[in-house]
Amino acid sequence: MEEKKKMENSIECKDRFCPVHGDKKLKMRGRTFQGKVIKKLAGRVTIQFDRMLKLPKYERYEKRRTKIHARLPDCMSGDVSVGDLIEIAETRPISKMIHFVVSKVIKGKGKKG
Ligand SMILES: [Zn+2]
Repeated sequence: MEEKKKMENSIECKDRFCPVHGDKKLKMRGRTFQGKVIKKLAGRVTIQFDRMLKLPKYERYEKRRTKIHARLPDCMSGDVSVGDLIEIAETRPISKMIHFVVSKVIKGKGKKG
């Protein structure tokens, strides 16, 4: 008789690419970024953050905005909503536009407190 082993997490995660539970886990390596979630779709999010670009000619900085698409693992889907501040980590390319995965939620709106 096979009994389903309960995972330590209460949420069951069926995401094979999940960096924590998946059997094809994504290895997080490379750069990490923090940004605000501006779009949330099934399994992926878009984050945006400002960066400063130096303009040597004028010895000043210019504000540039960067958008990055990142994969959202199933088990984190409930914790992330539009407007949240999250951290993403670089991983291997998953699709044409996605080569980042959500690593943690820094400031969530939905959470109490
Ligand atoms: Zn998971």
